[in-house]
Amino acid sequence: MGVIGVFNCENAAELVYYGLHALQHRGQEGCGICTTDGSDFFRERGEGLVTEIFNEKKLAKLKGNGAIGHVRYSSGDDGGLENVQPFLFRHHTGDFAMAHNGNFVNSRQLRMALEAQGSIFQSSSDTEILAHLMKMNRRRDRIEAIEEALNMIEGAFAFLILTNEKLYVCRDKNGLRPISIGKINGGYVVSSETCAFEAIGATFVRDVEPGEMVIFEKEKEPLSILFSEESSHKMCAMELVYFARPDSEIENVNVHTFRKNCGKYLAQLAPVKADLVIGVPDSSISGAIGYAEESGIPYEIGLIKNKYIGRTFIQPSQILREKGVRLKLSPVRSLITGKRVILLDDSIVRGTTCKRIVKMLKDAGAKEVHVRICCPSMHHPCFYGVDTSTYNELISAQKDVEEVRKTIEADSLFFLPEEYLLKAGNRNDLCLACYNGKYPTHLYQSKIDFNIEHKF
Ligand code: AMP
Ligand code: SF4
Repeated sequence: MGVIGVFNCENAAELVYYGLHALQHRGQEGCGICTTDGSDFFRERGEGLVTEIFNEKKLAKLKGNGAIGHVRYSSGDDGGLENVQPFLFRHHTGDFAMAHNGNFVNSRQLRMALEAQGSIFQSSSDTEILAHLMKMNRRRDRIEAIEEALNMIEGAFAFLILTNEKLYVCRDKNGLRPISIGKINGGYVVSSETCAFEAIGATFVRDVEPGEMVIFEKEKEPLSILFSEESSHKMCAMELVYFARPDSEIENVNVHTFRKNCGKYLAQLAPVKADLVIGVPDSSISGAIGYAEESGIPYEIGLIKNKYIGRTFIQPSQILREKGVRLKLSPVRSLITGKRVILLDDSIVRGTTCKRIVKMLKDAGAKEVHVRICCPSMHHPCFYGVDTSTYNELISAQKDVEEVRKTIEADSLFFLPEEYLLKAGNRNDLCLACYNGKYPTHLYQSKIDFNIEHKF
């Protein structure tokens, strides 16, 4: 998921709209924008891509100099318009809108406690929980109420809260989800990724720190508050490996450079004689370039992705699939035939994509396919808003590397070790829980589910 907010700028909705386009890769299921003109709120949202939901008429209705927007990717069974953000809350102490990226791990407990006190929820989204926590607290001071509510939440979040006068931006104490601050036209913009800054002509200022809340108010300098004293830098490794766009800078690391370094280390650690190096578009192109540069084996564009296949793409029937109808990804047959190919991919989750691509390359005449993965093997599910499945579905939780190699029918397979992932980003720490099971938070109900389903 991705969030963006603009504060104290004319045409805030338009800027958020263009920013959401730049964040579209983070979620294609739904999107929305909510604005304020200082006295009222205006909102448009829907299920689909940014281009499908918004038009000039809808944007014109979104008045005001403050706006927040959201792109949604569904993780599990929480679909439906009622879960499309931003959410808008009406309250006698002042209306407010909220958008959020991430997942709480104690949402079940918080929901039950809030319901016991009389709260009634409209959606299954974690965002609504924070709203209720804020209002459950009877303190008059809004900042204190938000701080207290944030400290009751365990998990991953980058929150935007828009009131008639202010924009609040909050990042969880482990910094699992990134969020950056930029400047534009005398106002401010905050975004899950800096690629949105380029899209709207904003300049990067800094990242929001783990456990920090930044408050933007008209004619005042932004106010920074540390709501947690136990902060750490455990940003999600998959942000760098898979989610983010290569042109984004996350915590002082350019995503393309990070991925190129991963490819370089793979070439050093797992060299193999081959004729060309290719990457699975889009997320593995940088890794393939890094591998090629380091190994001296030429990089080629061996796979072409059709960029125009959206959410409503009709999958070819089994018969057409068997005839080789593949519209999302195609091999460049003349380059591949008779060649020993090194294939870079960002990650293996269930193993189905990689298996399909190896087969595609072999069908196109590749003599050998050597798979190199730009992150460690995934043995554990994610509970922080990334849909990386259950133990049963994760191929590396079920099989060792040799068995995975056999399943995907590759000639060789190598996963980048953890320490090289950190080295690629020049960092001491990241959340690596889906690789090593060291979750940076307690797991609460997730662990209970495990006991039942997976004998954790
Ligand atoms: P598979 O192994 O078939 O489940 O798919 C793995 C591929 O899905 C990777 O190469 C990524 O490009 C992509 N991927 C990795 N993590 C995720 C995720 N959390 N959600 C959606 N796609 C992902
Ligand atoms: Fe990211 Fe994996 Fe940590 Fe989830 S468990 S936040 S996917 S690194």
